[in-house]
Amino acid sequence: MEEQGVSRNFIEQMIDKDLEDGVYQSVCTRFPPEPNGYLHIGHAKSILLNYGIAQKYHGTFHMRFDDTNPTKERVEFVESIKEDILWLGADWGDHLHFASDYFEKMYEAAVSLIKKGKAYVCDLNAEEIREYRGTLTEPGKESPYRNRSVEENLQLFESMRAGEVPDGAKVLRAKIDMASSNMNMRDPVIYRVAHMSHHNTGDQWCIYPMYDFAHPLEDAFEGVTHSLCTLEFEDHRPLYDWVVQEVGFEYPPRQIEFAKLYLTNVVTGKRYIKKLVEDGIVDGWDDPRLVSIAALRRRGYTPESIQMFVNLCGISKAQSSVDYAMLEYCVREDLKLKKTRMMAVLDPIKLVIDNYPEGQTEELELINNLENEELGTRKVTFGRELYIEREDFMEEPPKKYFRLFPGNEVRLMQAYFVKCESFVKDENGRVVEVHCTYDPETKSGSGFTGRKVKGTIHWVSAQDAVQAQVRLYENIIDEEKGVYNEDGSLNLNPDSLTVKQAYVEPALAQAGPGDSFQFVRNGYYCVDAKDSREGAVVFNRIVSLKSSFKLPKN
Ligand code: ATP
Ligand code: MG
Repeated sequence: MEEQGVSRNFIEQMIDKDLEDGVYQSVCTRFPPEPNGYLHIGHAKSILLNYGIAQKYHGTFHMRFDDTNPTKERVEFVESIKEDILWLGADWGDHLHFASDYFEKMYEAAVSLIKKGKAYVCDLNAEEIREYRGTLTEPGKESPYRNRSVEENLQLFESMRAGEVPDGAKVLRAKIDMASSNMNMRDPVIYRVAHMSHHNTGDQWCIYPMYDFAHPLEDAFEGVTHSLCTLEFEDHRPLYDWVVQEVGFEYPPRQIEFAKLYLTNVVTGKRYIKKLVEDGIVDGWDDPRLVSIAALRRRGYTPESIQMFVNLCGISKAQSSVDYAMLEYCVREDLKLKKTRMMAVLDPIKLVIDNYPEGQTEELELINNLENEELGTRKVTFGRELYIEREDFMEEPPKKYFRLFPGNEVRLMQAYFVKCESFVKDENGRVVEVHCTYDPETKSGSGFTGRKVKGTIHWVSAQDAVQAQVRLYENIIDEEKGVYNEDGSLNLNPDSLTVKQAYVEPALAQAGPGDSFQFVRNGYYCVDAKDSREGAVVFNRIVSLKSSFKLPKN
């Protein structure tokens, strides 16, 4: 379209061609989840792809619940899915649809096939149907019910609908080709009897359409033009095309497949996550160690970071797996200039400035983000007693250790130079206090150029700092040994969650659910929306500052 020099992925190239050839006048896409679980990062790819294409071509994006299977679906999931999609920024406007709203039209479509002699009621049971189907190397056999008259089929199908047929006793099948090299075309079942309540239609129906029949119809009813789905449906495309053609749509939709997004060593399977929740290993589907959209949001990932990630992954037909480090890279990039950089001490040890007058304090004005001055400044109290990280002091430092050790001088971040004079140990030989002197001339921002120091460490004022719980995460999988144990269970990392009591700047104690910050020298953190209480904030580490990921150059 308009933009030049922007490379088009293969789907966009196909759409361009369809528009050029006049196959369609405009573009309509959809995201069609089954409401049977929470959405995960893989679904985000599909959502953003479909929504992005609709945007790019000034078309329409539909949100549609593919709720044709009453056994697995729950209303709870409908709500969580809507929330996740809106959060990702995909706005469906007036186009919130439910496949179950089309049950009557689907029934009519089936009737029209029967009338054309393109569908028949079959009395074979599931096992017989399987036997008759043949194999990849042998053609199938025709069902003895295949040549029922149109009248008989119409009457039988009606009796199926009327509840006169028990579950499994009859099905409606498309009449295509039992010798087709594509197994999906060997007279697939398109309706089954299931005396079961549905979350939307209640007990109105006791026959339900099969996915391969329902899905193309849903797309066609809504005027979807490009039905984007993942590769496992490639072999189903001939059936998709058959359905929309035989039912006779003027502008039938077109199915295009792309590769699923997989993250290396990351668990997305519902079965596994369900078990982790049931075994109490994670605290729900939104546990920040998971990659459901709800979990990523709770952890502090932003919609922009997920968008960037999905863009970097690209769209292709080749199955591949992406490193989690790339997702981390994206959230770091997104938060880098947006977030205030605050001080928090995760493993505190006291620092006493012996020559700072007892009882005195001063307010320092600290810059919130040295790379983005628009974020302004904040006031922080400085005083005689501070907390610093335990690892920022060493009694006997190794080479190239530039932080505190006896006789060494460092900069306290955006404050003064301090020089280590002595330290105190407890009865177990553990250092409990570091004593320093400070040089009032070296105040940050004063223009002091007298001498330089090699190390800068962060701190919080002991008098003002507030305690907060911080949670550090690692992959729930023990990556060294692979995802699964020999018995098929997950190979869990015992250190996937570490909880610490930190001292943080007092302003952080006022932060609200979902607020996020950089804790300098450590990482990005987000206030946990589930477990934080008034006066007791809990922080999730989104990501550390250290990155192993390098953006590939192209
Ligand atoms: P899962 O079993 O992983 O939850 P699903 O395919 O059963 O996934 P659906 O609700 O059927 O979930 O999927 C909705 C849409 O999301 C489909 O169009 C599907 O192709 C797409 N999708 C599912 N998983 C991925 C993935 N890993 N990458 C990209 N798209 C995906
Ligand atoms: Mg599915």
